[in-house]
Amino acid sequence: MSTAKEAINQNFYSLGQRDKALEFVFNHNAVKVAYCDSNLHYRFVNKPYAQLLGFDESDIVGRPVIEILEKELFDIALPNMQKALAGEEVCYQIRLSGTSDHPGRHEVRYLPDVDQLGNVSGFYAFIRSIEDTVEAVEAHQLLRYAVDQGMEGLSIHNKLGEFIYVNPAEASMYGYTVDELLGQTYHLFYDDDEIELIDNEYFAKLMQDGKWRGTLNARRKDGSHFFSEVSLTILKDSCGEFDGLICTCRDITDKKRAVDQLSHLAHFDHLTGLSNRLQFKDNLEQLICQAQRHNEMIAVFFLDLDDFKHINDTLGHSIGDQLLITVADRLKPIFRAEDLFARFSGDEFIIAVSGTSDNLDAINIAKKIIEKFDCPVLLGDQQIIQKSSIGVSVYPNDGDDIETLIKNADTAMYQAKEDGLHGFRFYSSEMSKQAADYLHLSSQLHQAVDAEQFELHYQPCMSLDNHSIGALEALVRWQHPERGLIYPDHFIPYAEKSGLINSIGRQVLNQACHQASQWIKNGYEFSQISVNISGVELQEGFVEVVEAVLHENQLPPERLILEVTETFLMTRLNRPIDILHRIRELGVNVAIDDFGVGYSSLTRLKHLPVTCLKIDRSFISEIHKDLIDQSIVKAIVALSNSLKLEVIAEGVETAGQLSILKDLSTHYAQGYYISRPTIAAKIDQVYAFIETL
Ligand code: C2E
Ligand code: CA
Ligand code: CA
Repeated sequence: MSTAKEAINQNFYSLGQRDKALEFVFNHNAVKVAYCDSNLHYRFVNKPYAQLLGFDESDIVGRPVIEILEKELFDIALPNMQKALAGEEVCYQIRLSGTSDHPGRHEVRYLPDVDQLGNVSGFYAFIRSIEDTVEAVEAHQLLRYAVDQGMEGLSIHNKLGEFIYVNPAEASMYGYTVDELLGQTYHLFYDDDEIELIDNEYFAKLMQDGKWRGTLNARRKDGSHFFSEVSLTILKDSCGEFDGLICTCRDITDKKRAVDQLSHLAHFDHLTGLSNRLQFKDNLEQLICQAQRHNEMIAVFFLDLDDFKHINDTLGHSIGDQLLITVADRLKPIFRAEDLFARFSGDEFIIAVSGTSDNLDAINIAKKIIEKFDCPVLLGDQQIIQKSSIGVSVYPNDGDDIETLIKNADTAMYQAKEDGLHGFRFYSSEMSKQAADYLHLSSQLHQAVDAEQFELHYQPCMSLDNHSIGALEALVRWQHPERGLIYPDHFIPYAEKSGLINSIGRQVLNQACHQASQWIKNGYEFSQISVNISGVELQEGFVEVVEAVLHENQLPPERLILEVTETFLMTRLNRPIDILHRIRELGVNVAIDDFGVGYSSLTRLKHLPVTCLKIDRSFISEIHKDLIDQSIVKAIVALSNSLKLEVIAEGVETAGQLSILKDLSTHYAQGYYISRPTIAAKIDQVYAFIETL
């Protein structure tokens, strides 16, 4: 054996320089090389071979294979070696265990060493690791399988846009076979206008960002269309140049339909079918852009139904809904297709009309809207007259963005309400500050209710017969911790809107009844205590509240008057009137406040459960010089006498007014001339003053 080893070494070292180089290559090659003779002894091995098996070359050379290879490996190798010695070229794979320095799969190849006579004197063994290649191929096959079988469409395009790969899912999504597509461009999938968008817009984005995702209106082979959600990723060559793209896609027609439906729900009001707030804002934004370009004006109308809450509370929400639908239907014909008309929230509608050239246009539109409310609305079996208040803001004068325009129209609407229901108002900049104050106030109203910050001032009415005191009217004031006294006109509308009026009303009623029973106990002479109530309060449960408060304060019902405004009574529904009937049945008196400014129908008046009319002060202020006002008051007095109602003239400020009212046989008068509203503690002064009249 040593001779063989020596011979080889000798052989090697005798080869000179060139062979030295070969030896270097031989020993520094990833391929492991060995030579075995026909007796299965190693004749030579290279370094990597020896290392693979965990030996030095010198330990191996000359020794039998069986001594070197592990048993398991030898068992696999032997039949193959025998084949090689039989002159056959063999190739097989082995897996080296994890404990080896070179674990993993290897390819083993034996090449027989055949002489010219065909005798085999041994064989060469070559071993190389195929771990990387095997994994790569397997992974590739797996990937290809996944892509081919995938449900999502996937295609690869060259830089001309031609399909170089397309999976069956994508082909069938567009109604083609794979073969029909290869070599074609994606233009096959889209209409011309979509292709124009893709080539000009989407590709520009793709080039810039390296990827693009979007929804395309795709066309199938049969011409039908569907929505395809497409993602594109660009491929680059080794120089970083655009070399094609990968496209994934899926049919999202169903999803898009669902999304569209959702978006419809999100942008339209389901009740009236009008746009909703969100949609309105979007559209107004666009309208503003157009108006900017064309130097046009836009009028924004903010419309709020008067006392809508009351309808909802008394007649129920489905009647309320019916009313909203009717309002929407009535108003629709006023506007052009390009105008925006939306339900903003609850009982608020908002309208934007562009191309108005001056405020006159806007006034005309506002008038048209108001007119639409003149006709009664039939709700179930009742007719009601629904009024509304409108605020108008104009672009660009009152704001050049959506929020400001809407806010200012809303502010103007509140002003319209303040001015008296059922009208419209244009926004003015002073309103802004007021509106901010009001908003602030209304948020503080809650605390005011909890802290019982309401106090009552009392104003007497005086009999014109004998100057005795008839009713003492309780007028509420809000004792605001920072701002001092706030008058009812400045907070009652908000209390009504928020529903807080019920709590406030109850506090007022209780305080007034309590005060009245104190005065009665203390011997003050007056016929009744009079309390103002909002129409909103006339709901289920109100009669019980009145009854309880009277009882608690030991006040006989006939000593109480409840005042309700004429505007409320005349435009309203049956149910509040029923409640007033029940109030009357308790023995409590009912007065119509601000009589003459509403639209009383005399037939209706006859059936109302009232005991007293209070003539609005607008008829009194000029009565000493205005003959028409005199005739009106005269007529009201005559009417009251025949209906057996009492009459009180409000707002009497001068002796002149008082004496004319006496001449007209008015029963009672109330006003600053007789007494300003005063706190309870000063009631003695009121009595003393009246004595002097
Ligand atoms: P109203 O019921 O018509 O009350 C008369 C209003 O006219 C009172 O204003 C009173 O201070 C004022 N006034 C009295 N005499 C004269 C006069 O000679 N000249 C002038 N220019 N004004 C006079 P006030 O207290 O600011 O109340 C305003 C309105 O607020 C009341 O009008 C009433 O509708 C409402 N209100 C007052 N208290 C309550 C309440 O407790 N509940 C409800 N819901 N509303 C109330
Ligand atoms: Ca009153
Ligand atoms: Ca009044």
